[in-house]
Amino acid sequence: MVTHAQRVARKGVPAFLLNCPHGFDTLRALKSADRRSFGDLATMVIVMKKGSSREDLARVAHAVEALGFRAHVLAGVQRTAIGITGNPGPLDPDTFERLPGVAHAIPITQPFKLASREMKPDDTVIRIGSRGIGDGGLFVIGGPCAVESADQILETAHAMKRAGADALRGGAFKPRSSPYSFQGLGKPGLALLAKAREATGLPIVTEAVDEASLDLVAEYADVVQIGARNMDNYELLKRVGRIAKPVLLKRGMAATLEELLLAAEYVLAQGNPHVILCERGIRTFSRHNRYTLDLSVVPAARELSHLPIFVDPSHATGRRDRVPPMARAAAAAGADGVIIEFHPSPDEALSDGRQALLPQQAAELFAQLRIIAATVARKAEAMR
Ligand code: PEP
Ligand code: MN
Repeated sequence: MVTHAQRVARKGVPAFLLNCPHGFDTLRALKSADRRSFGDLATMVIVMKKGSSREDLARVAHAVEALGFRAHVLAGVQRTAIGITGNPGPLDPDTFERLPGVAHAIPITQPFKLASREMKPDDTVIRIGSRGIGDGGLFVIGGPCAVESADQILETAHAMKRAGADALRGGAFKPRSSPYSFQGLGKPGLALLAKAREATGLPIVTEAVDEASLDLVAEYADVVQIGARNMDNYELLKRVGRIAKPVLLKRGMAATLEELLLAAEYVLAQGNPHVILCERGIRTFSRHNRYTLDLSVVPAARELSHLPIFVDPSHATGRRDRVPPMARAAAAAGADGVIIEFHPSPDEALSDGRQALLPQQAAELFAQLRIIAATVARKAEAMR
């Protein structure tokens, strides 16, 4: 018997959805949340049974792809699963649940899919050199805003290494608010970063500003940074999804967490599973800092997503005296890492000198951050 409420809810719903396998509740949810599309119905995670075989997994992946969807194998600590993306049509969990080795097929309700905890309950851990990002420890990235000269980057890199940083940052391609500001050294800057890596052993984090320079940047970088201004450059995100390097994806200054996670989804959907989210301050009515550091996004991101989340207190505050307190707050909030700017002579820096700490401040700050992170660590082994 169809109730009045159901008749109202059905109005305007395409006929093919009325036969959808998830029943009327899903249709109601679809109508009440207008940001959801038909594509949401067609996304689920297929959880394999403990002890299922590789053949079982391959059979499921084949069944998914035979229906015109894309299968993403998600190897977890507790279980193996296959995430389904693409939206050629509705999916019936039963199609998969009857295959050997399948425990259950669960529809994903969040608008972002591969980035969601529903899809992958275990934290994503990304290995950079001998370190892990997202393993419960704090990953520290330090370095100048931009690479300016051999002396500047090498001096900073050695100081970062001595202070115990895990990676060196430095832009060779800079996205500047003014076209008259220093735009970065380009390829020679990447070569200087490679020299600094050779001299210190520190992995390199550097930004790609467009599709044209992406392959070149990816050749040199250990982690490719996508800046706040490019968070919604979807064509660039798709290209980044096809490189074999981890991506540090900064939150746009006017982006919600959902938009950040959808941006991450662009990368993940192309097959690159190694995305690090980064809060770097958002625009609000506050004028006492360059931006407003939205630290509460750290626990919120952790709840919704398995991806690691970093904090950049340098761009968020824009003033060197405010960077250490906000870096400490980020570690206390449970960030997986921080990215902080340093310059040997901030007054002469070609970009962001006002927010750069002196390299000699690094050792004390990093030591404090590690103590705080260990104190609040979610895992005992995070004491590093
Ligand atoms: C940077 O890290 O150098 C940078 C430009 O940051 P954002 O994209 O957050 O402004
Ligand atoms: Mn900067």
